[in-house]
Amino acid sequence: MAEKRDYYEVLGVSKGATDEELKKAYRKKAIQYHPDKNPGDKEAEEHFKEVAEAYDVLSDPQKRSRYDQFGHAGLGGAAGGGFGGAGMSMEDIFSRFGDLFGGSFGGFGGFGDMGGGSRKRVRRGSDLRVRVKLTLSDIYKGVEKKVKVKKQVVCHRCNGDGTEDANGKSTCQTCHGTGVVTRVNNTIFGAMQTQSTCPTCHGEGEIITKPCSHCKGEGIEIGEEVISFHIPAGVAEGMQMSVNGRGNAAPRGGINGDLIVLIAEEPDANLIRNGNDLIYNLLISVPLAIKGGSVEVPTIDGRAKIKIEPGTQPGKVLRLRNKGLPSVNGYGTGDQLVNVNIYIPESTDDKDAETLTAMEHSDSFKPTDAARKEIDKKYREMLD
Ligand SMILES: [Zn+2]
Ligand SMILES: [Zn+2]
Repeated sequence: MAEKRDYYEVLGVSKGATDEELKKAYRKKAIQYHPDKNPGDKEAEEHFKEVAEAYDVLSDPQKRSRYDQFGHAGLGGAAGGGFGGAGMSMEDIFSRFGDLFGGSFGGFGGFGDMGGGSRKRVRRGSDLRVRVKLTLSDIYKGVEKKVKVKKQVVCHRCNGDGTEDANGKSTCQTCHGTGVVTRVNNTIFGAMQTQSTCPTCHGEGEIITKPCSHCKGEGIEIGEEVISFHIPAGVAEGMQMSVNGRGNAAPRGGINGDLIVLIAEEPDANLIRNGNDLIYNLLISVPLAIKGGSVEVPTIDGRAKIKIEPGTQPGKVLRLRNKGLPSVNGYGTGDQLVNVNIYIPESTDDKDAETLTAMEHSDSFKPTDAARKEIDKKYREMLD
């Protein structure tokens, strides 16, 4: 982690800056680096957090005096007042200092909670996970899958409402139905309002007086669902897809979670995947390697005939263009690579032994220095 900058330097103020000067300096920097003004700019976000942290410390007389005496070390752990340096979230910043610059931006896009007024809590069901095993052929073509899952579904009796009948709910008396309670704190900037979730209704704004006899007021029950979804071509082991809204139902009419589909690949009997390329290890006989000929190899969608040149060496790689897998983002297709290996039998019968002895004495079969140098050359290329 980079060394922390001096807080006075971060805000561009002198060591003796007054509260008013600090506040002005912070407001200026916060507006400069505000996420609404710099959408998607990570660096601005870091600056925004840095100035907030500096302001948090310098605007607090106790923290400021510790910082003046001991520097950043004086604020470690609990002394940092919950910030302690790193890890200050945008939500923290807005909830603490939002009032200082809120007016300039007309609300806080992307930080829904800060809008003020009613913010009844909407619950979200949890995500469900399933693992699907795909063959190489599924991955080549893309595939429709169907899974049966046990999950939380909306209660059939109360239809998710959680109540036994239409009069089973009443408005929460603590928050008067808004789901939030507002507190006023006196700070050095004057009175600041903070809002928090209502402790009585947990933000729902309503209290169930007659809970549903089937789900006990939860609004959900355990059920089963068959879910179909499409898996695009080119996916790979470990990838995750989410099927929106098909996870667990949320208590009392909230938003469903998602179904997360985890991709697993079944190994293929013939082809080995390497990215979007497919590899086939071909094994040919010694005479075929010498004389040349043709062989058939399996491909992802059938078979292909390939030519073996006379004198083919082991280790030769033949490339079948565009016979690999499509890329999942739709750009391009891999190749099939055929690695040529030569089958050397481990034993022979007497007749073959005679042939082999004759071959051994034939000049054609004597390894040449040129052939050895050719191997050296390939080896050197490989090492480069
Ligand atoms: Zn309430
Ligand atoms: Zn129910």
